[in-house]
Amino acid sequence: MPTISGACRRISNLIIFVKFLKIFLNKVANLIFYRQNHSAIYQLLIMAVPKKKTAKSKSKVRYSAFQKKAQKKIADKVQLENCPECKAKKLVHRVCEECGKYRGKQILVEKKQEKTRISA
Ligand SMILES: [Zn+2]
Repeated sequence: MPTISGACRRISNLIIFVKFLKIFLNKVANLIFYRQNHSAIYQLLIMAVPKKKTAKSKSKVRYSAFQKKAQKKIADKVQLENCPECKAKKLVHRVCEECGKYRGKQILVEKKQEKTRISA
């Protein structure tokens, strides 16, 4: 005679089995349809696999948010000021790239175009 607890155990075992089967099938489907870079055995046995493919727009939105954050971080670190000579934006404590002056002194000199010599 099968007892009630035995039947319960069997059913719970069945549920667990079905769960694992679902996970396994999901991994197989991932292998077939999405083809990620990892090796097949590694993916089947160890790796956690996403249920669905990430849409292009989704990843783009995520990346743009990340990009904005990164840009803000950089902008906070970089200090800009107006050049006293030509009023162009320049980095502090650096030579102005527009006029080539730093603290009133001419530091950068425009290079003259060198003519190529032709040996006779
Ligand atoms: Zn300048």
